[in-house]
Amino acid sequence: MGRPLDRPASHSPQGRCAAAAAEDPTPCEGSYDDATIIDRNGAEVAGCIHHCARLLAGLEGARVHPFVLARHALDIYSRARELPPFAWEIGK
Ligand SMILES: [Zn+2]
Repeated sequence: MGRPLDRPASHSPQGRCAAAAAEDPTPCEGSYDDATIIDRNGAEVAGCIHHCARLLAGLEGARVHPFVLARHALDIYSRARELPPFAWEIGK
């Protein structure tokens, strides 16, 4: 089960990208709109490489938007492969 992308598409009060989970304390890497993740229902969320990878790792059926630059998409997929779902819950 993934979590729905029901967060607003704006920056959080902590000044992080929209892909950063509220429970995830890690800071952004790069721009807030380096990449976009699409969940299996077609909802999109833009975020930095770091948080898009963390989101992707825990979101079943999600993928990187096809318009994302190939080097960013590859970076996200390779990072997500190394991450457990919801990495922040176990302190990663
Ligand atoms: Zn971020």
